[in-house]
Amino acid sequence: MNILVLNSGSSSFKFQVIATDLEAIEKNADRELARGVVERVGSEALLTLHAGTKPPQRQTAPLRDHRQALDHVLRWLMAEAAIPEISSLAEIQAIGHRVVHGGEKLSRSVVVDESVIAQIEECIDLAPLHNPANLKGITAAREIFGPGVPQVAVFDTSFHSTMPPESFLYAIPYQLYVRHKVRRYGFHGTSHRYVSYRFREITGRAPEETNIITIHMGNGCSACAIHKGESLDTSMGLTPVEGLVMGTRSGDLDPSVLDFLHHKEGMSFEELDGMLNKRSGLLGISGLTNDMRDLLTEEREHQDRRARLAVDIFCLRVKRYIGAYLARMNGAEAIVFTGGIGENSAEIRGRICADLDFLGISADAARNEALTGDKGGKEGEFGAEGSRVRLFVIPTNEELLIARDTVRCVLDAPRRW
Ligand code: ADP
Repeated sequence: MNILVLNSGSSSFKFQVIATDLEAIEKNADRELARGVVERVGSEALLTLHAGTKPPQRQTAPLRDHRQALDHVLRWLMAEAAIPEISSLAEIQAIGHRVVHGGEKLSRSVVVDESVIAQIEECIDLAPLHNPANLKGITAAREIFGPGVPQVAVFDTSFHSTMPPESFLYAIPYQLYVRHKVRRYGFHGTSHRYVSYRFREITGRAPEETNIITIHMGNGCSACAIHKGESLDTSMGLTPVEGLVMGTRSGDLDPSVLDFLHHKEGMSFEELDGMLNKRSGLLGISGLTNDMRDLLTEEREHQDRRARLAVDIFCLRVKRYIGAYLARMNGAEAIVFTGGIGENSAEIRGRICADLDFLGISADAARNEALTGDKGGKEGEFGAEGSRVRLFVIPTNEELLIARDTVRCVLDAPRRW
């Protein structure tokens, strides 16, 4: 089957076309046929399109909305991309969507129907920026492909639905959970789930034997304690602001800071929310950028004090979660790093793992360095000889997991991971 995977943002979307089926999943023989990004939907859009292994094509086009943008991409796929497997729309058999928030009810990937759409809409309060954007992708695809082509929603939250109440409840009046479902949901679930599946493939572990900490560090960052193959605890909360320090999000913070700033700076709650989401994290501390690569360059080449502070605070927060999750699980077999920073920056991995020998964590500098190639992160292990906790880099592949879940949902096949 050829699966179109869509990840829609409010004015952008990413797509991939992946050829896969139950046999390909079994044999790890899925093939990526095309992928791309459309930015600035709503005005003169910018498209970066890759067909197979050919060099990327860049285009601009006036694209009013997601429907026009998807239409444009599909016409490129059928005509210019010259991919033998897809010469007509009929050769795309199903569509898989990344949906950020599934709330408490949508705890698995599902075929989209009216009731699923209504439930995604119900979760808009919990993800006001993301869920409406994800719905735009679903609507655009339905308009173009018609109701005969199944669409599947894969939720960022669903992997964490196994968390017990002692992990997901906040210590605020219980009635607020009952009335408004105020709780920790967790995000990046597709990434944590994918890397834990790869860990099992590499090590031959069964799910019940999989006790690891996964750390996704991209623009957004989160950690997950995976116990017996299931999410036991995670760092993101009701929204993706909680937990680790991120590109522009603060992560953990005393909630009273908000009231304090409201009085001191006269900031409204919208402004405070904007500050926590868009002007904090690496950008907020450094005053320079949210981009880790640039911060490391500033620190190295210009000895920028605040760049160093931003990186130090970032690494310390990850250490704090590693300590917490080792305590939560009474130890772990391995720590797995993933995401743009986790896969590409040996330096950040090294700084996080430094001085943790008391916890049985010790990195091998040369092995760590060797896992970062010209073309990005490589899968592999970088623990030092004798490190009790094994250390891995596993590049994430959320699109592949979405494509595979789409196949399994459409064919009603069991999901083993
Ligand atoms: P997103 O969360 O948007 O998918 P990515 O997973 O691509 O983002 O991660 C983006 C982050 O990865 C940026 O902060 C970028 O600077 C960082 N990054 C990418 N390559 C490197 C590198 N070689 N060294 C340090 N940071 C890197």
